[in-house]
Order: sequence, then C-alpha cells, then structure tokens
Amino acid sequence: MSPEEFRRHGYALIDWLAEYQQRVEDFPVMSQVAPGDIARMLPERAPEEGEPFEALIEDLDRVVMPGVTHWQSPSWFAYFPANASPPSILAEMVSAGLGLQGMLWSTSPAATEIEMRVLDWLVDLMGLPHGWRSEGPGGGVIQMSASDATHIALVVARRRKREGARSENMVVYVSNQAHFSIEKGCTVAGIGHCRKIAADEAFAMDPGALRASIESDIESGLLPIAVVSAVGTTATTAVDPLPEIADIAGQHDLWHHVDAAYAGTAMLCEEFRVHQPALDRVDSYTFNPHKWMLVNFDCNVLWVADRAPLMEALSILPPILRNAATDEGQVIDYRDWHVPLGRRFRALKLWWVIRSYGAQRLRDLVRSHVAMADDLASRIESDPRFELFAPHPFALVCFRHVDGNDTTRTLAAALNDSGKVAVTPSEVDGTAFIRVSIGQTYTGQRHIDALWDLIDEFA
Ligand SMILES: *Cc1c(COP(=O)(O)O)cnc(C)c1O
Repeated sequence: MSPEEFRRHGYALIDWLAEYQQRVEDFPVMSQVAPGDIARMLPERAPEEGEPFEALIEDLDRVVMPGVTHWQSPSWFAYFPANASPPSILAEMVSAGLGLQGMLWSTSPAATEIEMRVLDWLVDLMGLPHGWRSEGPGGGVIQMSASDATHIALVVARRRKREGARSENMVVYVSNQAHFSIEKGCTVAGIGHCRKIAADEAFAMDPGALRASIESDIESGLLPIAVVSAVGTTATTAVDPLPEIADIAGQHDLWHHVDAAYAGTAMLCEEFRVHQPALDRVDSYTFNPHKWMLVNFDCNVLWVADRAPLMEALSILPPILRNAATDEGQVIDYRDWHVPLGRRFRALKLWWVIRSYGAQRLRDLVRSHVAMADDLASRIESDPRFELFAPHPFALVCFRHVDGNDTTRTLAAALNDSGKVAVTPSEVDGTAFIRVSIGQTYTGQRHIDALWDLIDEFA
C-alpha cells in the first residue's frame, strides 16, 4: 500500500467509523447470528494473492457487522460498559501507527514518561494515597486487564511468603461475591486455596467470617497470604468493608489487594470515596479505565503502595536488554511490572481522554449515569410488580419481578430479544435478577425512558 493509498483508505475508514457512531442505534444491540454464521462467509483457505483494500472495507458491512454486539450503543445496559470515545479511538490509531514497543524506558521514553505522569494525575484525581505516585515508594502501571493486575498482586503476595513455604499450602481470601478472575489468578499462580468468605445481606464480605476462616486455616497448618477486597462487585456492585479487612490483613500479615475494576472510575467524584476508606492501609489497587472512563478496551491500571516487592518478583535482566539508562537506575522499565515483555503505548489514549474531556466533564458523566440509575431504581421501587435486589451505590441497578425466578428470567429474555436494549440476567444464591448497568458514553435520559417502557410492556 503506497502512502497515497494509505491516506485514501484511512480517510474512508474514519468516515465509516463516524457513520457507525451515528447509526449505532439502528442495529439490534445484541448480535442476532447463530454459531458458525460468520465463519461460513469466510473462505476455507487464506488468499494467495493480495486483494484490493476496497474489498476489505466492503466486508466490514457484509461479514463483520452482523456478528457485532453493540457495546457502544447507548441502550447497552449489559455487563458493565466498555466505553470507546472519539479521542480514545484516535489515540489507538496513533499508537498502532507508531507501532512502538514500550518495554524499556529506552525503547520509547515518551511511552514510559507519559504513562508515569498520567497515572500520577489519576492518583490525585481519584483521591488515592499520595505515596502511590511515581516519586513515592509506590507507583502505577497499565495492564491489559483487571484479571492480569490481580494475578500479579497474588504472585507478589506468594513471593513475600516463600521462605520455607509451599504454594499448595497458601490461602487467598475473597468474598463469595468476588470476581472469578481472583480464583483464576490463584490457579495461574499455583496458590493452593482460594477461600470464599460469606457475605452479608448487602453482599459485602463478613469480616467475622474472614477472621474465623483465617484462624481455622492456620490451625490446619495452612498459610494465609492475601485477601482481596472488592469495591463494587461484578454481580451487584457490593462494597467490602475495607477498614475491618485492613485490620485483619495487618494482624495476619496478609497482602491486601483491592479490586475496583468497575467502580474505580466513580472515585473521580469525591462523594463516592466513602466507599474506599483505609486505602492508606492496602498494598495494591486496580481499576479499569476501559470500563467506565471512556478509554477503549484494553486499559487497566494497577497501583502498588510499595513497588519494591513487585519488582523483586518480576525483574529479570538478560544481556540483550541492558542499557545505560536502566543501569543507572534513573528510569522506570515497565517490563518489570507485568508478565509480558512487550507493551503497547496504551497511555496515549488515557492521556488524550483526560485532556480532551477534562476531569470536570468526566465527573459530570459519572454523576449523570448515577443519577439515571437512581431514577430507574425509584421507578422500580414504586412499581408493585418489581423489587430491587441489591443496593445501588454506583450506576448498576439490580431488580427482579416479584412473581419469582421464572418471570424474572422471561422478562430479561424478552428485553434482550427485542433487539432494542441489552441487559444481563443473573443469579445469586438461587435468586434470579436482572442487572441494568448504566454508563455507556452516550446514554441519556431518553434511553432510560425507553428501557422503562419496555420493562413495563414485557413485565
Ligand atoms: C470486570 C471486572 C473484572 C475483570 O476485568 P477484566 O479487565 O476484564 O479482567 C474484575 N473484577 C471486577 C469487580 C470486575 O467488575
């Protein structure tokens, strides 16, 4: 492809993307294809000869779009948001175009220094402990996903206790509402036990049950190494009691990791920080700008209160990576902060989103989503056909039909089959409920009104 052709096709694709943003509401929110439908449209074998690029662009509409579920629809209420935004999309393009590998400071100083500075901005914007800034003992690093961040926190926790200990005997504690990525992290890290601690009626971890479980494990000769608290669980956005858990972690010398994958974005607004007290007593914290902060997937942030144990666990310096800046210890080499060596320039999109919207506009967006969630929740509460299933501290509303599980599941299926919205049917302890997550970049009150009309119609 010549530079001229690249320019022409690039412009055509920007036009295509701009049109997509304008017509996203015309598609059924959930893809309607059956398994195998898309694969059948592709030839069995790769082409021997290159094809004209026009044909590739045409196939976006013919082959790709029928198989796309529209996470960028303002009527996207399923799972959590995975927001894209124009400045973030453009930053992704630049990052791909530069094609740099930011594994060491020296392999592209801009990638490292922008990441460092922007994560420091976020420490202040989110009211996180000052020591997590890069000039403190801690620091932040962009990862692919919250699952990766949690996995790494567990690897560090395991290494801390390695003296004479077998990882099969180690125990990590989470609430029975915690995201499955924590159990998976234990499996990947070879940690023997992931204990699910009982939760209270608001789905938050019961600290008394945590303490009892730790004591019984110690009595059986096991080695507790870490506890993971949730600020906003995936099922219901429940918030674990951080101060009590921090006390217990302190008494038993456990690594305390906080999973705020979804709710971390809300911490841009001071009024939500009541949900994360005692952060000055936790060891690591993760959240996903790729959920609610308008940064395209993938972009996760992991902060540690002390970067030394992280780097001791993950640093390796083979001769091929030696360079003066690293040897002088003047710079951060982010390859020591995660499992992969290579890394994309993800900081660019975080930087551009924060600069382009400004902190105030991002806060306004969070507040508007939470206000819409409060509005929906009060409509649900005042309708005798429905009941709220859980508190709604952020912008996720969980509700059910009073007629029980079957009626609730039928309602969720009817909403999704309508093609007009997407919600997530879920279940905790045998009770079915519907999750409505409000937070897509362009969701407005009219989308909530339309959703409510559908709920009313199908109930
Ligand atoms: C979404 C979510 C995760 C997993 O996030 P990934 O970035 O997809 O790995 C983990 N924990 C919680 C609480 C979540 O909501």
